[in-house]
Amino acid sequence: MHSLTIGGARKQLANGEITSTALVESALARIDAVDGRIKAYLSLDRDGALAAAEQADKKKGSGVLHGIPVAVKDVLCTQNMPTTCGSKILEGFIPPYDATVIEKLHDAGAIILGKLAMDEFAMGSTNENCAFQVPENPWKAGYVTGGSSGGSAAAVAADLCFASLGSDTGGSIRQPASLCGVVGLKPTYGRVSRYGLVAFASSLDQVGPLTKDVSDCALIMNVIAGHDGRDSTSIRREVPDFAGALTDGLQGVRIGVPREYFGEGMDPEVEKAVRGGIEMLREAGAQIIDVSLPHTEYCVAVYYLIAPAEASSNLARFDGVRFGYRDMESDSLIDMYRQTRSQGFGDEVKRRILIGTYALSAGYYDAYYKKASQVRTLIKDDFSAAFTECDLVVSPVTPTPAWKIGENADDPLALYLSDILTISANLAGIPGLSVPCGFSSDGLPIGMQMQAAHFNEEILLKAAWNLEQRAGVVDKKPVGLD
Ligand code: GLN
Repeated sequence: MHSLTIGGARKQLANGEITSTALVESALARIDAVDGRIKAYLSLDRDGALAAAEQADKKKGSGVLHGIPVAVKDVLCTQNMPTTCGSKILEGFIPPYDATVIEKLHDAGAIILGKLAMDEFAMGSTNENCAFQVPENPWKAGYVTGGSSGGSAAAVAADLCFASLGSDTGGSIRQPASLCGVVGLKPTYGRVSRYGLVAFASSLDQVGPLTKDVSDCALIMNVIAGHDGRDSTSIRREVPDFAGALTDGLQGVRIGVPREYFGEGMDPEVEKAVRGGIEMLREAGAQIIDVSLPHTEYCVAVYYLIAPAEASSNLARFDGVRFGYRDMESDSLIDMYRQTRSQGFGDEVKRRILIGTYALSAGYYDAYYKKASQVRTLIKDDFSAAFTECDLVVSPVTPTPAWKIGENADDPLALYLSDILTISANLAGIPGLSVPCGFSSDGLPIGMQMQAAHFNEEILLKAAWNLEQRAGVVDKKPVGLD
């Protein structure tokens, strides 16, 4: 039962073939059997989930996720459940309120099983920066899940929940989705409320779904999208029926292949799988054209100024006074701040705070932050120009499939470069999706990235659904987990 999609589970629930209690029990049994190897969950709410399932079975509801167990990245505030952000500094923090997306999941009838592992404060590309545990790729023991929503991707890939939510600041939904062989969507900036999302870089962060197939992705988008008065960056704009976009055939759809995205460092197997996927899109009726995104080479530099600058400001609030961990040995206030932050934050978070503080300091602001913001506009303009010629652009998500845990851990620059293909969607604010399109010769999943103009998630879902129908990889599951 744990291997059902949400679509499949909904059908069986509606027919009365299964109950929500049975779904929750099967997910919990799967977690007991397999999560020792995957290490996706930071916390589990067994009793809460079983009680909610009992309620769902008693009272038939009309919500699209009625009685379906899901899980969420530990970056989203959950009332009465721990929210650590993968950091020692938030150990023991229990938020007094739910994030808007959590409220929306509850309103749709979903049951929240627990909180999923992530890189500390969502900073990372492998999940090795989590203060508590390093989740492993379900497809190969000892390999990274990707990051920072690695727990969210691995939990869905290993059938430890029916879908999950992640957050994406520079690729953190799409990159782990690609490395773990699931579907992940970063919506347009402003499409989904971030109220109750612990902020990393406020001009880039978005919440989005990770799911077993494209149609589940559309279903979750229908639940979580929409304006929220409590988030001033959320857009007042009608939400389409995303599930309605999943129709067969791509006649009249123009797909751009950016020549800058297949450059140096691209693994030949990744390129082959993605080019194979592009052929399938052509067979579905799409017209394939060459496009150019000339400022791509500046994306990593721009992102690694803007994101740390915003993070250094956002993370100032973790001072030992307001939330979570506090050093109790210090005898002055300043020393308490210093000790709390020294002990509470890990190396990568400290590195970002240092870079960000430096880039924002008097005398450097114009040279770094302001300059990066100006180049950001050029990157956004690249996409606007490309979208006059095509409806979406497709590419790999990452230059390589998953790698061994520890392989790049001492080389932050190598990891920053692995984000090169995902970062620009956040800088431009456009939606981006990752959909499985093949496997490497040693059985590791490879995803295709699709990006579209602002608020055009429908075309992404439609193209991804058409690829999924043809690629024949959606039903493949990691083996040997139990
Ligand atoms: N890997 C990128 C980083 O380390 C992106 C992270 C994210 O999207 N949260 O910042």
